[in-house]
Amino acid sequence: MIRHTNGPPPPSPVTRSVRSGLGADTGHRAVMPPIHLSSNFLFDSPGVYGKYDYTRSGNPTRDLAATAIADLENGCGAVITSSGMSAILVVTRLLSAGDLLLAPRDCYGGSHRLFTAEAERGSYRVQFIDPTDPAVLSEARALRPRVVWLETPSNPLLRITDIAAWSRLSREIGAICVVDNTFLSPVNQRPLEHGADLVVHSTTKFLNGHSDVVGGAVVAADPDLLDEVAWWTNAAGVAGSPFDAYLTLRGTRTLHARSRIHEENALEVVAALERNDAVRRVYHPSRRDHPGHDTARRQQTGWGSLVSFELRGGREAVDAFVDGLDCFALAESLGGVESLVAHPATMTHASMDEQAQAAAGIGKGLLRLSVGIEAATDLVADLERGLCRVEAVACQLV
Ligand SMILES: *Cc1c(COP(=O)(O)O)cnc(C)c1O
Repeated sequence: MIRHTNGPPPPSPVTRSVRSGLGADTGHRAVMPPIHLSSNFLFDSPGVYGKYDYTRSGNPTRDLAATAIADLENGCGAVITSSGMSAILVVTRLLSAGDLLLAPRDCYGGSHRLFTAEAERGSYRVQFIDPTDPAVLSEARALRPRVVWLETPSNPLLRITDIAAWSRLSREIGAICVVDNTFLSPVNQRPLEHGADLVVHSTTKFLNGHSDVVGGAVVAADPDLLDEVAWWTNAAGVAGSPFDAYLTLRGTRTLHARSRIHEENALEVVAALERNDAVRRVYHPSRRDHPGHDTARRQQTGWGSLVSFELRGGREAVDAFVDGLDCFALAESLGGVESLVAHPATMTHASMDEQAQAAAGIGKGLLRLSVGIEAATDLVADLERGLCRVEAVACQLV
């Protein structure tokens, strides 16, 4: 960035995000950038064209979204993909046969499925580890991984991994450190500032934020890695559509404002759950008794709005709680303006058998909330009514 010695101070990331791409329309001077749906662009003469020729390879609307997301993550650039999974797929193209990928045991289910299937067909090797364990960190050096994959906070118990420690190790052994930052968004955590090489997002979640786009992004700290990921995105044909990019850019303008309310509401919800006897345990990094609290305090700039908790009473309690909620929709996904509740054992983590679920700490009474931006009083009242239904079942009153 150019520094003007006497000029005004540079705008804050909040202002940059709200105003990203404004004034990009030189044709009609529209304030908000228009959407370019065209699949192709004019050549001046055979072999001679401007910045764009074909939308799979490059598109002005998608470029504006990429610039906005790269700026949010403090990266050198970004690639916008058709889904979070295609963002993850293009990053794994950096691995060759024989290379080792280290990934968390409790990473996103779709990532786990992709890594396992690719390893089975010999694309690369994969080893699933517990990256929150310091002993595993020191043993990892000898494994000589090519890529270290992190996801923090984890799903659904919100376990915290030390990004700086793994980035340092990755640098020392020549590995690429990738962080899936979907659960927090760049407002609450910027992994590149802690030394990571790449950040991946399911923009389906907080970045778009309105549960009406499926999309992904890869942000790079370094132009060479960015070029490689961009090359694979074009070669595989998994770039995001201009329309999705347009909606996602629109979503990022309100990311900071939304995140503030998401967090306020999440803290109210955590407090309400904590004081209720129907709840056995609450999982949220803001809690002092959360095992990752100190690391989260160091590397996060916000606590995030995913909250997990365990009901006393198992499955019957879950049914009584969920049946009758007005403000929490029973659905997978997260990060939208609307509040959601999910039952990991039968929904997001249903592909794990009972033993694997138990080993991962996913009990039958565990619920995960994505706390939205409705009025906190309504959210808390809705949850408290649900917890009353749980108590009533426990007392055989209904
Ligand atoms: C949703 C999600 C993905 C996958 O993204 P899609 O947009 O659904 O393809 C990857 N990682 C995390 C952490 C997610 O929550």
